[in-house]
Amino acid sequence: MKEYPLLKQAYNFEDFQKNGHQILDQLTEYLQNQQGDVKANNWKNPNSELSFWHSYEFSNVENFIEDLINHSIHLHNPKYIGHQVSVPAPLSALMNLVSGVLNNGMAVYEMGPAATAIEKCIIELFCNQVGYDSNANGVMTSGGTLANLTGLLAARRSLKGQDIWKNGNKDKLAILVSSQAHYSVDRAARVMGLGDDGVVLVPVNSGFSMDIEEMKRCYAETIDSGFKVIAIVGSACSTATGSYDDLEQIGQFCQQNGVWLHVDGAHGGAAIFSNQHKNLLKGLEMADSIIIDTHKMMMTPALSTVVLFKDKRHGSRTFTQKAQYLFEDQALEEQWYNGGLRTFECTKFMICLKFYILWKTYGIKIFEENIDYLYGLGQTFSEMVKQHNSFQLALEPQTNIVCFRYIDDDLTEDQLNQLNKKIRQQLLEDNEFYIVQTVLNDTHYLRVTIMNPLTTEKHMNNLLEKICQIAETI
Ligand SMILES: *Cc1c(COP(=O)(O)O)cnc(C)c1O
Repeated sequence: MKEYPLLKQAYNFEDFQKNGHQILDQLTEYLQNQQGDVKANNWKNPNSELSFWHSYEFSNVENFIEDLINHSIHLHNPKYIGHQVSVPAPLSALMNLVSGVLNNGMAVYEMGPAATAIEKCIIELFCNQVGYDSNANGVMTSGGTLANLTGLLAARRSLKGQDIWKNGNKDKLAILVSSQAHYSVDRAARVMGLGDDGVVLVPVNSGFSMDIEEMKRCYAETIDSGFKVIAIVGSACSTATGSYDDLEQIGQFCQQNGVWLHVDGAHGGAAIFSNQHKNLLKGLEMADSIIIDTHKMMMTPALSTVVLFKDKRHGSRTFTQKAQYLFEDQALEEQWYNGGLRTFECTKFMICLKFYILWKTYGIKIFEENIDYLYGLGQTFSEMVKQHNSFQLALEPQTNIVCFRYIDDDLTEDQLNQLNKKIRQQLLEDNEFYIVQTVLNDTHYLRVTIMNPLTTEKHMNNLLEKICQIAETI
């Protein structure tokens, strides 16, 4: 009989245990190191990184993991204050390993019974927290981008008198969304065939949230030019500045006009778990669909997003391949356990484990602590910026996202823009801190998102000092 020695080796569980312990030790050391005086980043330009891996001589798993860690950005470093990706709680990260080994695909119930039921428990928790009644449901997706597409597809499906799923787009369709919304909303709309004219960007007010009067004007204009409005999208919060749209006012307008309200709460939807901050989401329960990433403000690794529907029938119907009349609503809803009917994805990760383990181990209070600490430190940092002569705040932050810039009275606006751009580039190449940048009304700002619960006031202070030092050398 022919031998297949490689296969035998690859599936050997003793090797798994040996490698597993090895990798776990290395990752533990990585976590431990981040609490010392080490740099957050190890930036190289893309081409030199590529040539490193092109000519990489693989020796063994241990060396590979070491090289991988050394060539990666370190989110667990308290001086990582950049993008809105969570700093995973280590226990939650272990669930990615569990999902990887068990690999229950979940498209049909039989391919993931536990994960399917656990996902439903999570959806119920979120629906409850939002203030939805028992008529709501939802699904978990791999990320907010896909979740926004899912919500908007459900909105389109709910348009009266059409079966676009079957017949394609015949009418002129549009969505309204703030000009500060995350680009995934625009992308979803374009995937749906809406094009330039179908994505109506509503101007923002001075706090960078959707201007309500402008929204009403845009809506009227859009209808007047013969479009059907699929949905108005509220950002909770926006990406660049962390500004929450006024969901209460948008929601009331949507109800009066029979328009679907979709809320992109990828980052800030998690505030439903915080008594102190949930007022930012006032009106959220009016939304027809909501998305919340747990890999942003809820301490799980990527990717893990909940999509919630106020009316469960919308969640069930979105991806029905057959004409609606053939699908008894009842029959669909009874099949809550066949997740594949309700998601774009076929095989998916056991997404739910990452959130579930935190919920069950620490209780839902942990999510409140995380929001309160990180949003609170955003507030503290903004006070530090305001009190410092060399810095200026772009706007009062509502969250853990703070935009600010270095200023110098002797420089023109143009020179200040150049200077702040250079500061950010030098910070990047210096590696100690990792922060990002954004442009608001033609002004160049530095931008931090405080994602790491181990980041303290002291780190934020050191960041400002470092920026001053850099600015002096430019
Ligand atoms: C991050 C983000 C998204 C995209 O979510 P992914 O999980 O990265 O795909 C969408 N909207 C907002 C407001 C976000 O912050």
